[in-house]
Amino acid sequence: MSDTNYAVIYDLHTHTIASDGTLTPQELVHRAAAMRIGTLAITDHDTTAAIPAAQAEIARAGLPLRLVTGVEISTLWENHEIHIVGLNIDTAHPAMCALLDEQHQRRQRRAALIGERLEKAHIPGALEGAQRLAQGGAVTRGHFARFLVEAGKATTVADVFKRYLARGKTGYVPPQWCTIEQAIEVIHHSGGTAVLAHPGRYDLSAKWLKRLLAHFAQSGGEAMEVAQCQQAPNERQQLAAYARDYGLLASQGSDFHQPCSWIELGRKLWLPAGVEGVWQKWEQPQHSTEREV
Ligand code: AMP
Ligand code: MN
Ligand code: MN
Ligand code: MN
Repeated sequence: MSDTNYAVIYDLHTHTIASDGTLTPQELVHRAAAMRIGTLAITDHDTTAAIPAAQAEIARAGLPLRLVTGVEISTLWENHEIHIVGLNIDTAHPAMCALLDEQHQRRQRRAALIGERLEKAHIPGALEGAQRLAQGGAVTRGHFARFLVEAGKATTVADVFKRYLARGKTGYVPPQWCTIEQAIEVIHHSGGTAVLAHPGRYDLSAKWLKRLLAHFAQSGGEAMEVAQCQQAPNERQQLAAYARDYGLLASQGSDFHQPCSWIELGRKLWLPAGVEGVWQKWEQPQHSTEREV
């Protein structure tokens, strides 16, 4: 089938109930089609469990949607939690399966410790509550946050993070994720492209963000997210400039977790001039890069 059958909107960062999203893979692909997305990547936290059901539903319902197999891997760099998105990965590759299995164990251990810490702070049942909300998927701090809202400990998820789950707070447990280099290596082994997720969201000074970008690029990372639906007015241009400076392709994604009024699949996703979309990695015919003109 030719690419011209697909609409041009790309949304390359989304979540389902396999991690901390609230939609099933089936619901997500239908919503993406309704939003006229042409290419959708499902990038759950440290799991690819949603992909088969999403693929099956696209085929069953004949949706005009191309699915990119993805994952969002949590890494630790200089004591910061940095997220690396892998796009077009072979989800069955042994190296990827082994890494995601390890990350899963790390998540389980951390969830148990978060539960213990909250228990000591006289908030019982948090682990069980988070596990119930995760419905068998990967347990994230997002699930603990929802549980704490349910338990009346705060009114919003953002508030829970501030009061309980952010670094240094009662329920915070230092994570044990893999390194950026490991994530990139495994993404490459499984045939994928490594994308630095939401570089503007790590609370890094310009100096540290540049360090991160240099390290990511030196480690073989190919792209960084430049466009998201919610950004400060100059952020997109600034990130585009960084992409050019560090020789990175540009990606875009909503980081959609659930239907809400401020984030929607595909909304406001476009790239400033002067950067190249990461999709050229898989859309450009091979021979055009082999020949020098
Ligand atoms: P984890 O990977 O378990 O550390 O969970 C991280 C997830 O929690 C992120 O992917 C977000 O979905 C959510 N999260 C992190 N910080 C916040 C915040 N300040 N407000 C709301 N959600 C957050
Ligand atoms: Mn999340
Ligand atoms: Mn993230
Ligand atoms: Mn995400």
